[in-house]
Amino acid sequence: MPRSTTPVWYHEDVDRYERLVAALGDEIEGFRIIRKDQSALHKAIHYALVVVTFGQMRSYLDSFQTTIGKTVYVTPDWDTLDVDQRYVTLRHEAVHLRQFRRLTLPVMAVLYILVPLPMGLAYFRARLEKEAYAETIRAAAEVWGPERPRSASYRKYVIDQFMGPSYGWMWPFRRGLERWYDEILATLSEQG
Ligand SMILES: [Zn+2]
Repeated sequence: MPRSTTPVWYHEDVDRYERLVAALGDEIEGFRIIRKDQSALHKAIHYALVVVTFGQMRSYLDSFQTTIGKTVYVTPDWDTLDVDQRYVTLRHEAVHLRQFRRLTLPVMAVLYILVPLPMGLAYFRARLEKEAYAETIRAAAEVWGPERPRSASYRKYVIDQFMGPSYGWMWPFRRGLERWYDEILATLSEQG
């Protein structure tokens, strides 16, 4: 990414995002952020998703940030997104970066995509995304205050990620998801 050679005064929130990018660079050797629409791999994933979801999933290239290995692939509008939103999203993706490091890429790929089913009942995908969305919830509370993840709309938004087409209908059990969500909220209030 090009950087200005003259000093720039950042808003406090810009610092938070920039600090996270720098911290991840220290933590994950080889960490990088790349535009998804410029990646042949992601164009291939896009077409595969269109096929396996019978055309319902067409927004992969311009709606979702995706982490593979040490790389966070972002949508073309990433740099224009609200900086708080980018910070919250990157906190989520950071969990995936650590999962890839912990499990290695081949194991992570198999668990995430195939086990036990690629769609409808993707236990490991749901489990890995629960870990990442727990971080989304914590980051949202940090940036916007705990009322944000406590709102019914935010709760619905997160639970819809699990039950809807975004991740291939990865988990169908609403009660369990609501219980999981509320457990994460409860840990927020413990922290005050
Ligand atoms: Zn995720």
